[in-house]
Amino acid sequence: MQPIGIYIHVPFCRSKCGYCDFYSLTREDLREIYVKRVIEEIYTYENKGITADTLFLGGGTPSLLTESEVGRLVDACRQIFSLRGETTMEANPDSVSLSYLKAIQNAGINRISFGAQSGVDQELQALGRRHSTEQIKQAVIWAREAGLDNLSLDIMVGIPYQTSETLKTTLDFMTELQPEHLSCYLLKIEEGTPFYRQHAENLCADEDRTADFYLQTVEMLQNSGYFQYEISNFSKIGYKSQHNLKYWRCKEYLGFGAAAHSFFGGKRFYHSASIEEYLTLPDFAIVPDGDGGGIDEQILLQLRLCEGVNVETIPDHTWAEQLLIRSKKYQKAGFMQLNGGRLAFTPEGFLVSNKILAELLAD
Ligand code: SF4
Repeated sequence: MQPIGIYIHVPFCRSKCGYCDFYSLTREDLREIYVKRVIEEIYTYENKGITADTLFLGGGTPSLLTESEVGRLVDACRQIFSLRGETTMEANPDSVSLSYLKAIQNAGINRISFGAQSGVDQELQALGRRHSTEQIKQAVIWAREAGLDNLSLDIMVGIPYQTSETLKTTLDFMTELQPEHLSCYLLKIEEGTPFYRQHAENLCADEDRTADFYLQTVEMLQNSGYFQYEISNFSKIGYKSQHNLKYWRCKEYLGFGAAAHSFFGGKRFYHSASIEEYLTLPDFAIVPDGDGGGIDEQILLQLRLCEGVNVETIPDHTWAEQLLIRSKKYQKAGFMQLNGGRLAFTPEGFLVSNKILAELLAD
């Protein structure tokens, strides 16, 4: 059995950002009991011969966990899954210190992903972030001092007040910090968020300009030595996110904690987005979500990657042929390309990939 990925969801935040629709609560009082419960769930996999080569602590704000809580989670994964390899923790720049970063590095975290978001203070405030650009710089300096040599920074594109000039400021700011990896997400205003109620879209660039911002980001990052390998992800050579690659390559992973998703044993399942249920229900509030890993799902996920899909290896030849025929007009329009048997989106294609995929994968 191949090593799997482990995801642990840490659903705590100091305050909620205006655009956020991740499952997180401002209930740090539940932190300790939650960590115990996650460890209890990890131990339900004892003696099953499952190994893991990536761990991702995501949130929420995992850096609200104490050093010892992080250490206990990593230890549990080592114990049960013989964990080795890439061990990532998401962190907010305002919730770390040098001593904290040293301690989690000693505990086994070897990759940090900072939710930096923008290199412009006014934009950070508009997003409802608690940190400043100064704190981003400081967090990166401390992370390096703590010996963390694999850093990722998140950037948001299409946010309130952003212009082509401020995006350039942000990209310059981020690349000057020399992280190994950058994730650039287009802001999507989701129903139920404060941004939705406040009609924050009126403060953002329209769809066409946001598309230009995305292409500007791809070009500027490539020019600064960051290679795009996925619709939203860029890295220096040798620093792709090994954990996230598992999702896109349709490999197996187990998710622990409220709202965490899993794909394991050919099945998809998730935990309900309720910390109360996670803490109290005997089955950790797991909800089955059907079979996973079918051919259309594999294509859908792999086409998020710049390497795309190797059409020649699709076992169903009729299916592969149909995919090639349907993709022809998009290749002609410059949205897709076929190279050495691999079909992939171009950056322009990524911008409209949802619509194209719906047609490519239609019955
Ligand atoms: S810190 Fe992250 S998870 Fe928490 S509210 Fe902000 S965007 Fe959401």
